[in-house]
Amino acid sequence: VIVVENISKTFQNGVKALDGVSLSVSRSEVVVVIGPSGSGKSTLLRCLNGLEDVDEGRVVIDSIPLDDTRRHRDAIRQEVGMVFQSFNLFPHLTVLGNVNLAQTLVRGKSRSEATAASMALLTRVGLADRADSYPSQLSGGQQQRVAIARALAMQPTVMLFDEATSALDPEMIGEVLEVMRGLAADGMTMVVVTHEMGFAREAGDRIVFMEHGRIVEEGPTRRFFDSPREERTRLFLGQIL
Ligand code: ATP
Ligand code: MG
Repeated sequence: VIVVENISKTFQNGVKALDGVSLSVSRSEVVVVIGPSGSGKSTLLRCLNGLEDVDEGRVVIDSIPLDDTRRHRDAIRQEVGMVFQSFNLFPHLTVLGNVNLAQTLVRGKSRSEATAASMALLTRVGLADRADSYPSQLSGGQQQRVAIARALAMQPTVMLFDEATSALDPEMIGEVLEVMRGLAADGMTMVVVTHEMGFAREAGDRIVFMEHGRIVEEGPTRRFFDSPREERTRLFLGQIL
């Protein structure tokens, strides 16, 4: 579903955030991306949904090349759902309003159609009873679950998660990971940047380790954790596990 071929990205300040990254992700695969701060994990995800342009290389999502044409760009925005560390819900809209918005605006659904779909999604993330609440009335974990429902409302083929639990209090991390595990189990194609190694081991099909804008090592989850091949990977795992 995702094909990334040899992409590089240098920012205007001269930082080379990605340096020849290639990665393929199959349908229903869950790929977990790990690596030290500044290694290019967020930049990689941002290149996957067109938030960032690549200088070199190619990104193809569900057979749509991410190039300069507006049509492709819009198509990919709809194919790829993204959840960030900060939830960025619209504070003046209710939970239901937040999940409805893109469906009525972008997908052109009627309000009642959108509401039906939204309620099903809110049920899925365990928040149907909070549909009429405002974001400020919810805990961080609940807000993040709404953000996931909102991303799912676009019926994306791929979901990207960039440290979705990093801003949460410890007691709320579990409920968000639970929703992510559910998605993975339902066959969603996911690329997940996370520090949660428990989640990585359980839900990840494959682990990708990045440093200095490159993929140092990747492999099936079990093999990656139990017998990493690169010295650098062993060192990093030693620090975080
Ligand atoms: P973290 O774990 O801290 O989130 P990361 O692996 O996500 O790190 P990126 O955010 O992708 O790393 O950043 C990779 C490099 O690119 C870093 O050196 C960062 O400072 C730089 N960088 C990221 N975004 C920009 C930008 N918009 N302009 C300039 N440099 C940037
Ligand atoms: Mg990051």
